Amino acid sequence: MSAVAIGFLQKYAPVVADQFITMNATQTQNALYGDVNLEALNWLERTWASYYIWMGNPVLATGLMSFMLHEIVYFGRAIPWLIIGAIPFFNQWKIQPDKVVTKAQIWKCTKVVLLTHFTCELPLIYAFHPICCYFGMATYEVPFSPIGIMAAQIAFFFVFEDMFHYWAHRALHYGPLYKNIHKLHHEFSAPIGLAAEYAHPLEVLILAQGTISGPFLYCLFRKDLHILTVYIWITLRLWQAVDAHSGYDFPWSLRHFIPFWAGADHHDYHHMAFNNCFSTSFRWWDFSLGTDSKYHAYKERMAKVKASQRAKWEKDEHEKITKEGLEAERLVLQGKISKPKTL
Ligand SMILES: [Zn+2]
Ligand SMILES: [Zn+2]
Repeated sequence: MSAVAIGFLQKYAPVVADQFITMNATQTQNALYGDVNLEALNWLERTWASYYIWMGNPVLATGLMSFMLHEIVYFGRAIPWLIIGAIPFFNQWKIQPDKVVTKAQIWKCTKVVLLTHFTCELPLIYAFHPICCYFGMATYEVPFSPIGIMAAQIAFFFVFEDMFHYWAHRALHYGPLYKNIHKLHHEFSAPIGLAAEYAHPLEVLILAQGTISGPFLYCLFRKDLHILTVYIWITLRLWQAVDAHSGYDFPWSLRHFIPFWAGADHHDYHHMAFNNCFSTSFRWWDFSLGTDSKYHAYKERMAKVKASQRAKWEKDEHEKITKEGLEAERLVLQGKISKPKTL
């Protein structure tokens, strides 16, 4: 940031100005790592410390790294699904092969996602470092947490996020909330990976709380959480979200090996049927509360169909489910259903 801009901020918003002032390498090393023997650390930890020293301002360093991580992981995972979508060979594993997503829809989706990332998420991500410090999460500090601790923390974040998302998502299907917020995300009745964050900015903010509140909640009880663990968690969560919207269910998809993993098979049905399958990573909330009964009935009917008739059956069945889903959505928009239907 230029000296003029810094001078302006120092005069009118000194707290904000402090966040942009950078130190030289020696000052940063002394301030952040004065009592740490960096030579005794592993390569990744030394690289981590070098990055923070090079940036000269931990708030800027964490903000930039967090934003870049989100963009690279999100688009890095979503773009391969667009390539897969353009290759006919993969159609055999497409869940709703009859629905075609147009280039105009993909372009609109890209614009909305980028607009939300830059206008809504960027300022919040910039505030991430001070919030982490407030809750006692390690950011620039090295060494990192032991692998076993990291795995246990990430497992907790997955379970917490799934619970949060289930209830928040069901609330978003409630009359006015659906009409004013969640409807945009349901424009895709057969989603694509890129549409994972194709949503109203308020929905992005509400559902992001499930991802980020777990780490902050954890910090209230224990002070051994490092931001690197949170980055690994966010990466896995973004992969899960993009893959759940991919529209493909391969024989090697995770849900075939972990029976309670939701996957695209589960969330695609939510987009098709509208009022079933509300959770993200796991199936246990929907299963326990009966909000996946239509999905299971559909799977049972599918299991009885002969392989030679499967394609025709799926086409007719998907048309019927989509029609029923649109009718259910119409009723919610008209305020005729006051709560999500559990059937
Ligand atoms: Zn929904
Ligand atoms: Zn979705």
